This record gives sequence, C-alpha cells and structure tokens, in this order.
Amino acid sequence: MGNSFLISPSLFCSFLLLSSVSVDGVNSSSPFADLYHSSRALLEEVGQLVGRHRDRFTLETMRAQNKGYAAEIAVITYNRLNKLMNGDSKFRILLSFGQHGRELITSELALHLLSVLSGELGMPDLNTVSMDNVLDNVVIKIVPMENQNGRKRVEDGDACERRNGRGVDLNRNWSVDWGKKEKDYDPYEENPGIAPFSEPEAQIMRNITKLFDPHIWVTVHSGMEALFMPYDHRNGTPDGYTSKTMKSVLADLNHKHFRDRCVVGSGGGTVGYFAHGTTTDYMYDVAKVPVAFTFEIYGNSSAPATDCFRMFNPADSATFKKVISEWCTAFLTLFETAPSHLKADLGKWVSIRGNVVDGGESRAGRRKVLDGIELGMQELKTYFRLFILSSVLLMFMFCSRISRSKLIHTGSSNLS
Ligand SMILES: [Zn+2]
Repeated sequence: MGNSFLISPSLFCSFLLLSSVSVDGVNSSSPFADLYHSSRALLEEVGQLVGRHRDRFTLETMRAQNKGYAAEIAVITYNRLNKLMNGDSKFRILLSFGQHGRELITSELALHLLSVLSGELGMPDLNTVSMDNVLDNVVIKIVPMENQNGRKRVEDGDACERRNGRGVDLNRNWSVDWGKKEKDYDPYEENPGIAPFSEPEAQIMRNITKLFDPHIWVTVHSGMEALFMPYDHRNGTPDGYTSKTMKSVLADLNHKHFRDRCVVGSGGGTVGYFAHGTTTDYMYDVAKVPVAFTFEIYGNSSAPATDCFRMFNPADSATFKKVISEWCTAFLTLFETAPSHLKADLGKWVSIRGNVVDGGESRAGRRKVLDGIELGMQELKTYFRLFILSSVLLMFMFCSRISRSKLIHTGSSNLS
C-alpha cells in the first residue's frame, strides 16, 4: 500500500465500517436489504477495488464443470510488490468465505477485509509497529464467495440453503472420511455428493490449494462463534508438529478479540457432531497445510429454526458492524502472529508442492511422491467402498432373480 498503516488495526477497521455504504440489498423483500450486498453487487465491488489497486491485487476467475453443472469462483491475490522479497519467500495465506449460501455475513467480511488491505482509507496517527511490515511478508489469496450458485438460491428466496446450486454441501465433498453418515444425517443439510470432489467448486478450491501451497488456511462460516482446528471427522486434535502452534494462535485470538467467548478446539470435539469430508480436514491431512482453521463468526441461537437469515446473519446495523469490525481486526492479528509462531515449526514442514523449507531436494521429491500416493489412496478407498456396495447390490439382485426363476420353474413343473 502506498500509504502506510498509520493506526491500530482496530481503529482502521472501525473507521472503514463507519464509512462503508451498502449498495443494493439481498433482494427487495429481504429484511437484510439495507445491510447486505447482493452477490452481484458484492463481486462487482470487489472487482472495482482490485481495479483501483493493481499494485497489490490481482483477480482471477476460475471455472469448472461436471455433468452439466458449472461453477465459477473469483480469487483475489494480495501481494504487494517488494524488491527484497519475491512471492515464493513470503508466507502464503488462503482464505475462503461464503462456502455455505445462507451465511451472507461471511462474504461481507471478505469485502471489508479486502477494503482494509487496499489501504483506501489512510489514517492519521502513526502506529509504528507497522502492519506494513507484516503485509510485506505475506501473500494472501481471498475467495470472497466460494458458493456463488448456492448464494443465488438464497437470494431467490430459499433462505435456509447452504448447499451449492445442485444441492451438495461443499463442506462435505472433500476426500477425508468422505460419505460417512451419522445417525442424524440430514441430506438437506449435508449431502456429500456422488463422490469426493464431484463438485466443480471443490475441484477449483483443491486446484488453488495445490498451485498456491498455503502455509495457512481459513474457511469462514457462521452459525456460532468458534475458532476451530482439525479434526472435524473425529474427536480430538492432531498430534502433528503444528498442533501446539494452532492451539496457541487460536487461544490468543480468542483472548485478544473475543474476550474468550468463542468455542475453541477441534470441530469434531467441540461442536457436538462429527462432520465428514470437510475442507479443513483435507487441508490439514492431505494438502499438508500446517495451519488449517475454520472460523465461525456469528450465530443467533435464539432465532426461530425457520428463520435462517437471523440464525446465521446479524439483523441489525450495530451487530453487523461489530461482527465485521471484530473479525476484521482478528484477521489482521492472524496475519501478524501466525507466521511468527509458525517460523519455528517450518523446519519440519513438507508441503504438498514438495518445497521443503529446510531440507534437501531429494527428500522433497520423495515426499512429493508420497503425498501424491496418499492423495490417491484417500480417493481410491472411497471408490473401493462404492465398488463393494454396488457389487453387493448386484449380487443381491442376481440371487433374488435366480430364486424367483426357480420358483417359476417349480411352479410350472407342478402344473405339468
Ligand atoms: Zn457454514
């Protein structure tokens, strides 16, 4: 940013909020029309912001399709030009918002965060520990609206829709423990799709991850206030070398920004149910992202179960601004603290791309092959399960056909 960060992150975000203006709303009949952008308006605003700050932002639109269903995802890369460092030597952070259609507030947070990163609002009083230094050392990729098709369904009137444009939950379509169903499984909420990565949105996100090879991943949701780390599919946190780092980063954020009121820990261990095939479990287990989080930024448990707008999104201006402000500053803290916490761990990191930060080439190459095999094995296991299931079904059909023809045969011999 041309002008430095001259104030504390908190003031910066608050100022931005005071001066932010909602454009057109979700739809004219929505109670949120005054507070929230439509998806079209939000993405247009993001595009314009990028256009005004080409020294630090680039925008790509990634597309994929599968069996007649197409999806596209806008990805914004924040990378300030810096003569001393090239992009590869910076910390890489991947953030995704709006994976679930009904969680409108998350994409609003993405837009605000991008506005802060753009530096459009210069501030007077100097804070010398500059966010400038922090932001010089990171490359941030931001997906402001992962599930554009699902979001459109919400805007068309289905306020409780969280799945994509053809009814698949994008946070159940990944390959770690894919397809397992709990007793209270509800296809309206959690349909995992016909196979891991059947959905174009998940394919695009996986590709971004492979190409970008992030050190830090955060997927942003709403429904409660929580700071989650792996695992979602079982009770407990991983034993890996970054487990301690993840725990301490989350505890710091919770204390500093949320007065310790967020639920913190593994998704599966704290939320009350296991989630299978989630993005964060894949990011940690398969993509080997050292720090992988799920943030839940807002929830209203007293809203009626049929009122999804209010369950997942602030309904008044004061709460809306408070949520955006708190989480915006929490992200700036994350950009500052997580890389410094992680530095000590990265000697042991072997990324999915095979770049060993502190190690030999050959080890990197070997590990890369192993990662590939592991990735393939996860998916093979799932396909094998499907194969066994369909074989059993075929056998059953075959046997019942034989017994039926025997009966007919016996019947006809009795007649003769
Ligand atoms: Zn969600």
